[in-house]
Parts: sequence; C-alpha cells; structure tokens
Amino acid sequence: MTVKQYKRVVLKLSGEALAGDEGFGINPAVVESIAHQIKDVYERGIEVCIVVGGGNIWRGLAGSAKGMDRTTADYMGMLATVMNSLAMQDALEKIDVNTRVQSAIEMRQVAEPYIRRRAVRHLEKGRVVIFAAGTGNPYFSTDTTAALRAAEIEADVILMAKKNTDGVYDCDPNNNPNAHKFETLEYIEVLQRGLAVMDATATSLCMDNKIPLIVFDIDKPGNILKAASGECIGTIVGGKM
Ligand code: UDP
Repeated sequence: MTVKQYKRVVLKLSGEALAGDEGFGINPAVVESIAHQIKDVYERGIEVCIVVGGGNIWRGLAGSAKGMDRTTADYMGMLATVMNSLAMQDALEKIDVNTRVQSAIEMRQVAEPYIRRRAVRHLEKGRVVIFAAGTGNPYFSTDTTAALRAAEIEADVILMAKKNTDGVYDCDPNNNPNAHKFETLEYIEVLQRGLAVMDATATSLCMDNKIPLIVFDIDKPGNILKAASGECIGTIVGGKM
C-alpha cells in the first residue's frame, strides 16, 4: 500500500552495494543498474541525495587493525568514497540524470566542496547530489554522514539500501530460521538491542533529529523507488509505513 511519496530523500549506499558478487571494487554493471533505479525515483520528481560508503575499497578500522594509524586509515576510507561517488556520477550522467558531487574534503579538480545551501539549490534545480568523503572527519562512518546530511538538508527520510538483507531482524536470519523481521522499530530499541542497522553515532543523530530510516534490500529491482514512494518494504525505524 502506498502511504506517501517522500519529497526529499537521502539514499545511503554501502560501498559493498557497488561491488556486486565479487564483494570488492566497483562493478560497472551493478553501478549502472543502481543508476537506473535512482533515475526512476528522480523522474517521479523526488529530490535525491546519495551518500556512498567506501567499504568495497577500504575501511579505516580494518587498516588500523593491521597496524596503520587510525586517522590515516580513515582518511583513506574517505578517499575510497570519492571514487565510488565518481563512479555513481558517471553512471547517472550516462543516462541523462544531472548530478553534482560535493566532497567534504576539498578537491576542486574532482568535485565541488560541500556547501549546504548550494546542495539544496542543486536539488531544487532537479539535480541529484552525491555527498563524497563522508563527514570529512576520521572516526566517523558514512552512516553518520547520511544522518548528518539528512538533518542539514531537511530530508524526509534516509533510504538505507542493504545487501543480503531485506530489513532488520532480531537475530541473523542466515543462522536462525526463527529470526523475526521487524516492520517498525524505534531508534531507542535499535540502540538498546544493539541491532546492526547503522552505528550508534548515526542512530543517535537520527533519533535526536527525528529522521526516519527505511532499511531494505538493494538487490530487488524497483526497491529504491518503492521505498521512496512510501511503500511498505523492509523495516522502518523511527517512523510509520
Ligand atoms: N570514514 C571516515 N569518516 C567519515 C566517513 C567515512 O573516516 O565521515 C572512513 C572510515 O574509515 C570508513 C570508510 O571511510 O571505514 C568507509 O566508510 P564506511 O565504512 O562507512 O563505508 P560502507 O560500510 O558504507 O561501505
């Protein structure tokens, strides 16, 4: 059942979502198919921002676990998100979707710097805005980036596109056939139960700013549009379907 179509959404894509079955790197065919899904949303007149992760290339925590300085490793992770953002931009522009990449770390030859007011203007002009380089700060994640940007640009919802899961469960459905899938959840439950929706910093930011979150399966074609149109798919956190 369609409840409502959102006006402005932040789509969070994990780096893994761009990797396809290889699990690492960028798979152009996968990126192209996600771009088509995003175009469907954009053509409905829904304003779309994208935050892309970097885990398909590099994760700061993994680097620091191997002895690297955490801050350096995190900056490398942020640079990985820039590569993913450019891949996403390329795929979208190829199918005539106007985009701008805004980077939280200045790199003027590659992307605009992140400027909130300019990002909002791009959205109003019908461009998809891709936020690259996370928050620009080490010790954070791109989930937190999605929460932060959603609050800043007053998005209606965060669409949390996940790989290999179609919502939030009380335990791992791959290991437990009796795992229960939640249709709705409150942020505080996510924190108290330690559910793997997004990290605690990102969850708190969403809770404090009352930003609902829809967790759904990216691999089902059409799901991004369904989520943006308010259809009951996956799990909604901090809101109603
Ligand atoms: N990162 C960071 N600050 C940010 C966002 C990201 O330091 O604001 C780094 C961090 O090292 C992280 C990496 O970038 O491991 C990739 O981001 P993330 O793990 O969130 O990507 P995803 O899991 O969504 O692919």
